[in-house]
Amino acid sequence: MKYRSLGRSGLSASEVGLGCEHLEGENEKVVDSVIKAALECGINIFDIFMSEPEVRKNIGKSLQGSRDKVLLQGHIGAIYENGQYKRSRDLDLGKQCFEDFMRYLRTDYVDIGMIHYVDTIEDWENVINSGIAEYALKLKEKGVIRSIGLSSHNPVAAMKAIETGLIDVLMFSINPAYDLLPEDTKADDFFVKSTFSNDRLKGIDPTRALLYQTCEKSGVGITVMKSLGAGQLLSDKTSPFGKGLTVHQLIHYALTRPGVASVLVGCYTKEEVYEAVRYSDISDAEKDYTSILSTTPLYSMKGKCMYCNHCLPCPSEIDIASVTKYLDLALISEDSIPETVTGHYGEMKNTAQDCIECGSCEQNCPFDVPVIENMRKATELFGK
Ligand code: SF4
Ligand code: SF4
Repeated sequence: MKYRSLGRSGLSASEVGLGCEHLEGENEKVVDSVIKAALECGINIFDIFMSEPEVRKNIGKSLQGSRDKVLLQGHIGAIYENGQYKRSRDLDLGKQCFEDFMRYLRTDYVDIGMIHYVDTIEDWENVINSGIAEYALKLKEKGVIRSIGLSSHNPVAAMKAIETGLIDVLMFSINPAYDLLPEDTKADDFFVKSTFSNDRLKGIDPTRALLYQTCEKSGVGITVMKSLGAGQLLSDKTSPFGKGLTVHQLIHYALTRPGVASVLVGCYTKEEVYEAVRYSDISDAEKDYTSILSTTPLYSMKGKCMYCNHCLPCPSEIDIASVTKYLDLALISEDSIPETVTGHYGEMKNTAQDCIECGSCEQNCPFDVPVIENMRKATELFGK
């Protein structure tokens, strides 16, 4: 298992994490087997949004003795009322439910205090006006939470929240199908087939691309939900690309978006956990999603880099995807290039100036990216 820095939170998260939502309604034995399998495989980040007490209690039991080795994403604003999960902006209920989370999880701190499910600008304003944002800030000041998170499916609402500087970690729905969707698509429509027969779809939606770039640029770490599109993307029948992708291709897609640290895969069984974490051991060819995305009309990504590194090997050993990602981040910077970007670029062993313009990358790139031109631009911008 590899670990990545979760932006400015200072936390280090496993590339594959566990989204625990499928454990709700399962008995203690099943919950224990899934959590223990995750721990055994080096998974160290767990998203627990569910407010139902039984599942919280059982996950807490299974994590006993491992608390100092794991990162918990606990949600502020996911409450339990009349025997049901509910999203709420009631501050008192939110506080009650968050305290209850810590009690059931047998902990006195939470690594990521995640403001739950904000999908509109109006709702973000509710988060501010209800006192929930201030509550999260106070928890962080007291050390009860180590970072403030936000979960969202909407790039406009997420961007608005991130621009306030309050959010350290964003949990966002990322997969190649949702990335196509215009910014105003509602989360409920993600699962509707007709959503994808829309002639507005033309490669990655620019607002989503900008959100990921902004997160990377400003040090907001991204954890990913819905990487498999609720299983729809795995099957030839339901994938909007006409061909199913594998779990590992979808994990890789999400991990190659800027800013992403960890993909939280939902698993019903320990076998599903073992299958997901094989991501760390398989070959680059098995992870490669470009053969599917580059041949579908929905993904007319001509000229745009997907950061997939399908163009390697490079005789100068340049990590072409990273150079291009930093170049894109520099190009969206209005004033000077942020230090985080120049810093990461400066740490690379080989940079754009090492390009000998052999052209082999351009022949290998399925998206017709003008790599040589990009290398020239990057050399000019970064001075090396
Ligand atoms: S240049 Fe092409 S192959 Fe290389 S990382 Fe970008 S999209 Fe992938
Ligand atoms: S053109 Fe430059 S970046 Fe591309 S493979 Fe050749 S040396 Fe590497």
